[in-house]
Amino acid sequence: MANIFRKLPSVNQLLESPQLKQMVQTVNHSVVADGVRSFLDDLREQVSTESGEVTIPTPSEIADKIANWLKTEEKPYLRPVINGTGIILHTGLGRAPLANSAIESVQKISEGYASVEVDVRTGERGQRIKSVEKLLCELTGAEAAAVVNNNAAATMIALSAMAQGKEVIVSRGQLIEIGGSYRLPDVMECSGAKLREVGTTNKTHLFDYERAINEETGALLKVHPSNFEVVGFTKTVTTKEMVALASEHGLPVIDDVGSGALIDFAEFGLMDESVVSQSIKDGADIVLFSGDKLIGGPQCGIIIGKKKYINTILSNPLMRAMRVDKMTLAALSATLLIYRDESRARTEIPILRMLSMPRENLKLRAEKVVTQLSHLTEFMTCEPVEADSMLGGGSLPTQKLSTWCVALTPNDHSVDRLAAGLRNGEASVIGRVQKDKYFLDMRTVQPSQDACLVESIESYCGDFKAEAE
Ligand SMILES: *Cc1c(COP(=O)(O)O)cnc(C)c1O
Repeated sequence: MANIFRKLPSVNQLLESPQLKQMVQTVNHSVVADGVRSFLDDLREQVSTESGEVTIPTPSEIADKIANWLKTEEKPYLRPVINGTGIILHTGLGRAPLANSAIESVQKISEGYASVEVDVRTGERGQRIKSVEKLLCELTGAEAAAVVNNNAAATMIALSAMAQGKEVIVSRGQLIEIGGSYRLPDVMECSGAKLREVGTTNKTHLFDYERAINEETGALLKVHPSNFEVVGFTKTVTTKEMVALASEHGLPVIDDVGSGALIDFAEFGLMDESVVSQSIKDGADIVLFSGDKLIGGPQCGIIIGKKKYINTILSNPLMRAMRVDKMTLAALSATLLIYRDESRARTEIPILRMLSMPRENLKLRAEKVVTQLSHLTEFMTCEPVEADSMLGGGSLPTQKLSTWCVALTPNDHSVDRLAAGLRNGEASVIGRVQKDKYFLDMRTVQPSQDACLVESIESYCGDFKAEAE
């Protein structure tokens, strides 16, 4: 065994190899040296656990392996992805892609200094919310607005500012958990408000709220169920009814509408998502929603409503911890500006464009991609397949959009291997496994990425062949 180890090249010897010398130039010395050490450790470990004959690769082969491994390691963790999952608001893939004007605005505002908290007209100190407040009020009919990091933060600060140490009444049918550790009871506990559950899972009546109101009550909270639906024998209380009851007792109603649609999604065939302005019309005192769900803007939590409560929220110490930066404000402001003209919104907001993409168009694109892949029959079967896209991001969970996919069935190797290969290629392609096939949904692949998608699959097959030889 000891003899075998002696055959391994030394760290210095490897660092002198042309391949790794070049890596030192492009990365840096200590990263490459650490990489070489840990690679050699792994190799020693492998050799000592292997029973029977072991052949040690030549120093040059080892250097090649290390160089390839380091190249993969050095690829940024955060990189662009081609979304073939069909999930339009995929939280793991960053939810909404931004509109061009939002991207341009981020660039313009972030490359230099900007009037984040200075009112350039007067030269006085201003509030950073001013850059988006006017637009938010105009588009929703609210009196005032605030913006924080995400809707979880919006919920936390609204509860903390308006009901700390007090009871907040919530229907048992609305105590939701959303992926990635958002559980309403936990958020409420963190805010310092006390959860007062009323009703049952499927039915909550107005009298349930009424009976729970006492001198400890701080607010009534309504929460959009988002990622689930209760069907059958059900009853929920409307915002209007809650507002009427709350105002009799001088209490505010907080409405967490979740996805935050600024236009009616019924035109895309998606029902049950009311527009944000409806909640304001119905009299909710504070309305909360995400900036990166149905609005299609940057990640943020938007708080709109009565001036008195917005002022309470703005002066809460948590505001400083949750405030958004200039890039978010720039992207949000540019995105909201598009909504002044709904027809512009439908063509310029990427998620709305994806939602309204005609099926026939998706079918043609899937067929074209399949034709371009027809020379790969040695590796896989490619076919256009009809399927369903999902909205995702906890929005409209039971509603599907009919779509067209490119389905890949690898010959003689697993779908998992294909998935890993496409993920790790030059462009990271992510699809979904369905019935032992790999589906790439054309609705979430941008039309400008079709050519790159074809190249990625071709390049995967090329690598596959090279490895087999
Ligand atoms: C998505 C969602 C949240 C969480 O919003 P984030 O912006 O992801 O923090 C909170 N409440 C509801 C009802 C939601 O749908």
